[in-house]
Amino acid sequence: MNSTRTIATLGPASSDARTIRALIEAGVDIFRLNFSHGARAEHARTIERIRATAAACRVRVGILADLQGPKIRTGRTPDDAPVKLETGDTVRILDRSVVCTASEFCTDQPGLVAALAPGQRVLLNDGAVGLRVESVDTAAGVALARIEHGGVYASRKGVNLPGTHLPIPSLTEKDRADLAVALDAGVPWIALSFVRGAEDVRDLRRAIDAAGGSARIVAKIEKPEAVEAIGDILEASDGIMVARGDLGIELSPHELPVVQKHLVDAANRRGRIAIVATQMLESMVERPLPTRAEAADVANAILDGADAVMLSAETSIGRYPVEAAAMMGRIAKATEASAFVDRAARDLSVPGARGAHAMCEAAAWASRDLQAAPVAILTLSGETAFYFAKLRSPGPAYAFTPDAATAEALALAWNIRTFEIPFERDFLALEEAALRQLAGQGFVRSGDPVLLLSGRNPVPGETNSLRVLLAP
Ligand code: PEP
Repeated sequence: MNSTRTIATLGPASSDARTIRALIEAGVDIFRLNFSHGARAEHARTIERIRATAAACRVRVGILADLQGPKIRTGRTPDDAPVKLETGDTVRILDRSVVCTASEFCTDQPGLVAALAPGQRVLLNDGAVGLRVESVDTAAGVALARIEHGGVYASRKGVNLPGTHLPIPSLTEKDRADLAVALDAGVPWIALSFVRGAEDVRDLRRAIDAAGGSARIVAKIEKPEAVEAIGDILEASDGIMVARGDLGIELSPHELPVVQKHLVDAANRRGRIAIVATQMLESMVERPLPTRAEAADVANAILDGADAVMLSAETSIGRYPVEAAAMMGRIAKATEASAFVDRAARDLSVPGARGAHAMCEAAAWASRDLQAAPVAILTLSGETAFYFAKLRSPGPAYAFTPDAATAEALALAWNIRTFEIPFERDFLALEEAALRQLAGQGFVRSGDPVLLLSGRNPVPGETNSLRVLLAP
């Protein structure tokens, strides 16, 4: 098992049980369901299929439900055909619904024009067309824009407005309905697209709480204002995704590598999960081998300190989904084995840290002093194991939990191998069961020191004991 987690997006190329199984065998730890596409009922069936397939493979994999968020799209073109916009021409942006042509178009956000101002950029079709607003008539709901670089757009193509604050809610009606499906199915991770600030994340948290759910949140960083607000966003979230597709449209591609490093570093300092996503092995959509630059991109994300790397089109619509996942795993393995990966335990201690955090810091340092001794963590909510994972302790780490949802969530924790065991009332019996499991499966040899992190009272987040035991 690699320390870095592999996330694979499922789609038409991969949602069948046979391919899901092959992806699990190729090393996929988490499946991402992109709720921007596909029907809700189909996503619910895919979740069942993932769990049934994983159970047949005797593993637990994680699931990440990715909500579309306030994505803006163009209206419809005649017969949904492509429309060419010529550089230097002008085009009108309308609030009211029209058939979209080369001279005017509308979007699915009726109040959009009021948020525009002269000088602002508007990008269509993943940045293929670039416009600059020249004038706005708010009363008439019309803006005029000059086409700075021409290209083609069609029905329902993405519209990006870098730096424009849109007064639209972070969770659309569609997102709320999608969220209900994901929470009903007990999905442990929810990703929110187009996060603009911490309040967007808090909105999602409130919606999860109101539904009685316990899912964790990944904030997708794909807008420049989210990069600026990253400290507050990290505070409100459980993790972030460097969503380089849209971020690369709203910023320029040359800015992305350094922004990626900054975001991953900020997440690591704050003890939050960092995922790097999009176009990592893009050429494998069509070909069985990646380019050298793509292999270097995956390796560099790992060297930046990402906890997880993600495949999108490669596994959802590509011709070589299983090969792409296996390749990602091989790159991770080779990179992790190199001397370039930082294996010195991180010090995340902050004034006012909880007792559980202090125990984790102590375990990481003790492991270092005992020649990378393994650490076993008894965890109910997973919180202790997640915190421990972010410390980058040099030795192997094993989490034991009685909770299937916690085990699924921990699929995203760096270098944690999770076991589901029934929690016994007797604390000592529980510790013994954990050590027997490690010895029985050959992870430790009899007499090896094992560091055990646990809570004397099995209460979530109340880890208060660290002991050095010898494997049976
Ligand atoms: C991205 O833009 O990089 C991303 C991951 O989001 P989506 O795939 O939803 O566009």
